[in-house]
Amino acid sequence: MNPIALCIRVACPRFLRGPVMPRSHSMPTQRRPAAAGRLWACHPALRNGLALLATAALVLALATAAHAGPAPEKDAKAPAEKAKAAAPAPAPPPQFVSEPEGFARPHISSSTELNVSIIKVVLCVLFAGVVFHVTHWTFLDVRAVNTKEVLWESVVLGSGVAGLAAAILVPMFYVGLPLGILLFGGGAVAYAMHRNGLVDPPFHVLTAEHFGRIKRRLFRQREDVESEGPVLGTGHDVIFMGLDDIPIRLEGTAKHEREANREIERFFYQAITRGATMIGYLARPQKGEVRFRVAGEIAPGGDIDPPASEFVAASLKRLAGLDPSEVRKPQEGRCRAVVEAKTYELRVKAAGTVKGEQVAIRIIDLAASQMRLDQLGLGETQIVGLQEGLAAKPGLVILSGPKDSGLTTTLHACLRNYDRYSNNIIAFEPHIDVEVENVNHVVVSQEDGPIAAAEVQKHTRLEPDVVSFDALSLSEIAQVLAEAAQEHTVLVGLRAADTMQAIVRMSELLGSTEPLAARLQVVLNQRLVRLLCPQCKEAYRPNPEFLRKSNLTSHQVDVLYRPPTKTDEGAAPCPQCHDDRFIGRTAIFELMPIDQTARDMIGSGDNLNELRTYGRKAGMLNLQEEGLRLVLAGRTSIDEVLRAIKAT
Ligand SMILES: [Zn+2]
Repeated sequence: MNPIALCIRVACPRFLRGPVMPRSHSMPTQRRPAAAGRLWACHPALRNGLALLATAALVLALATAAHAGPAPEKDAKAPAEKAKAAAPAPAPPPQFVSEPEGFARPHISSSTELNVSIIKVVLCVLFAGVVFHVTHWTFLDVRAVNTKEVLWESVVLGSGVAGLAAAILVPMFYVGLPLGILLFGGGAVAYAMHRNGLVDPPFHVLTAEHFGRIKRRLFRQREDVESEGPVLGTGHDVIFMGLDDIPIRLEGTAKHEREANREIERFFYQAITRGATMIGYLARPQKGEVRFRVAGEIAPGGDIDPPASEFVAASLKRLAGLDPSEVRKPQEGRCRAVVEAKTYELRVKAAGTVKGEQVAIRIIDLAASQMRLDQLGLGETQIVGLQEGLAAKPGLVILSGPKDSGLTTTLHACLRNYDRYSNNIIAFEPHIDVEVENVNHVVVSQEDGPIAAAEVQKHTRLEPDVVSFDALSLSEIAQVLAEAAQEHTVLVGLRAADTMQAIVRMSELLGSTEPLAARLQVVLNQRLVRLLCPQCKEAYRPNPEFLRKSNLTSHQVDVLYRPPTKTDEGAAPCPQCHDDRFIGRTAIFELMPIDQTARDMIGSGDNLNELRTYGRKAGMLNLQEEGLRLVLAGRTSIDEVLRAIKAT
């Protein structure tokens, strides 16, 4: 790399970032700017302004020095210092500082009169601004079009420096400036012609169409702002950030790339405001398919037509710091998004499939994943019962539910219930999505069988106060956990349809009911229920038969709610739920505190129905009853509760 280019890169970390055009092959991973360069990298207007100011100061200083000649040194210095004071913060762009001795010293006219007019300084500054802008663009463009970096950077930068030198140092200013423009223009046009030969016509520069684009951008014609607009044209609806919370800009110079970036912003905003937990993007040759997973169901997310669709996958990968040129091998990365002042973590997985490149993005609501016990939707007595169970040491707590029932969130809320500074807590999980502060998270793959069990045992022997194990399915590990429950508090998450089935499942894994009879404190089962959209939910009079079955009278319940049944062909979609009919989810719980009598019943192998009857007498509400509570409150529909309860 040539030394001038190196200087520029050191001073301007923006150049360290990934390429911006579609044909990028070099610099695959997106690197974060260095700490000192963050402000620099984030605010182009600020950066360009400061650079221009610094250039102005320098030009003024040089022009003064040049025209004042060597004689009155003090006079020559004064305005230079004054000018420098005006632009204190950043060093001026190095292409101008690294050279000054080279052209400030030479044989200038010996005229001693100070001959610096404002017009000349302004013209010089404007020229310097253009040189800076074009050089900056060239540095990005050489990578984007994948051509000889060092050669073309040197050509453009060199002609820029020569042009500026000519404009400032040639004694007759109105000869020097045109000469300078010619020198710089020559280098820049040579590069433009070279790179136009490498890219398709829509990406050509210095063409009539290109000048038209510049004109439209400068004068901001209305229709154009709508169709082309800036990349974050929808008013920063979504702000993407790295894991260090530094904003990542979706950059793009080509029209279709910017269009792709706007589409990305659109579908992220829609997905997040609709409460989606997943975005799937499949780059098919004929179109890009966008799918959301909203409350466990797949919903269309608006397909993207080519040619914009061809840029979407690469932009998504760049966001997560992945290699955009790798289209086959699986890659995984993370980043964040802020929407309406809430932060979401995005887990991005990209891989090639036979149908096309696929990118899956899991959306994790960081606020929701930090929930405490009282925020989950548990009733007051349920919270007390659960807290008592969690406080027992030694003790065993079973949390259960079908797949995608929010069990991990509940498990983490339970861990947050402990004082995590004075307790040593270890959480075993199949994968770590969200970390609980001051909890030691360990990934365990139960497919490894006895090896995984040995790994768990190694940790449980280190005297933890609380051990949790999410999604238990391996008998060997269940044995280790039962052993740990003799001294510590053990929380187990497993798949089961209700509390009784959870007890059965755990006894099967243990091969005996004995550990449960000795240590079991509380059993919980849960479901996630979708909540009706408050905007379009439909009130109706409930069927008297249903009320009778639910032990309710028609006096108690006037109306219930359900999703809209009338579909108006051609009507605009509901502004709040986009016709998803539901917004957000909450959990319903069945919680059975286990006392000594219940433990004895489990130990003696009694019929589980008797245990259930015992629990009911003790006041345990089952899932149906908890769901009905939500239905009567108008927050969900009967069908939705039934659907959730049927899930296994
Ligand atoms: Zn709605």
